[in-house]
Amino acid sequence: AQERYTSIRDKPAETLCGTRIAMHMNAGLMADLPSLVSSGAEGVGLFRTELQFLVRSHMPKRAELSELYARVMDASQGMRVVFRTLDIGSDKVLPYMKAVNEPNPALGWRAVRVGLDKPGVMRMQLQALIRAAAGRPLSVMFPFVAQREEYTAARAEMDKALERERILGHPLPESLEVGAMLETPSLAFAPDSFYSEVDFLSIGGNDLKQFFFAADRENELVRRRYDTLNVSFLTFLEGIVNRCTALGTPLSFCGEDAGRPIEAACFAAIGLRTLSMRPASIGPVKSILRRTDLVELQGVIHDARSSGVQSVRPAVMEYLRGKL
Ligand code: PEP
Ligand code: MG
Repeated sequence: AQERYTSIRDKPAETLCGTRIAMHMNAGLMADLPSLVSSGAEGVGLFRTELQFLVRSHMPKRAELSELYARVMDASQGMRVVFRTLDIGSDKVLPYMKAVNEPNPALGWRAVRVGLDKPGVMRMQLQALIRAAAGRPLSVMFPFVAQREEYTAARAEMDKALERERILGHPLPESLEVGAMLETPSLAFAPDSFYSEVDFLSIGGNDLKQFFFAADRENELVRRRYDTLNVSFLTFLEGIVNRCTALGTPLSFCGEDAGRPIEAACFAAIGLRTLSMRPASIGPVKSILRRTDLVELQGVIHDARSSGVQSVRPAVMEYLRGKL
């Protein structure tokens, strides 16, 4: 099977009906970067910056971070890398930050909430990213945005960081895109102005699904209870895709489900055109996409939904049988 994937490494993820799906990879450590070339990914759709904080025993300095991000950009050879700002709290606790005791950490003080309430670290990180870019294009996204104002406030921090760097005489990025992760159901219903304001959105399916079904992604008793291809969730995702299409907001999906071939094919069928996944999943996902006709698959999903099933998975698996 591995050979089969090698043979399609440099071929596009193009479906039988001629639709191109952009394949990006998720990363978080320097060690992940060689996979960018070996996997055939077109860029890094999610760089989880917290991993660099989690592997240390002390808060990294700005110069260290800046050097690290520059190395990541060098290794990506001009391909797009989307840096996600620090996503800590919940299951990711930094040993050198004062722990807060929360009854429900997944619903608690985490990610951009911490970044906005205690902006010191986020400011340092934004500054390090601008310096690392050193005049190259820069893509940044904020995790766990739950309402428009949080994005606006985080973006204002970015504008302030740019202004500071300009005054200090550092080169500004040649181009800058600032996006948000869509990982709380609230954002699916945010006002149109939010969709116009963000430069792009990326669905964090791991969190989005946990909050949609109210089922803790860390809890073995419930984490596999609800199917991603459950009709309710698929309909919800389709609504997000349709809003982004209508409002011209670039959208990707970067949760673990993007790397599962059956799920990925269904995401393409409901209109997603950019998927970001762990490097090892790129071959298998590309392979299934290249043998799928999205129009046929849309028909299969439509018929399954109309028949009242809970999940479209059995029908989709039947259709994909022999293509896996
Ligand atoms: C997600 O929630 O889907 C996601 C990509 O972020 P993380 O898994 O790091 O929470
Ligand atoms: Mg998440």
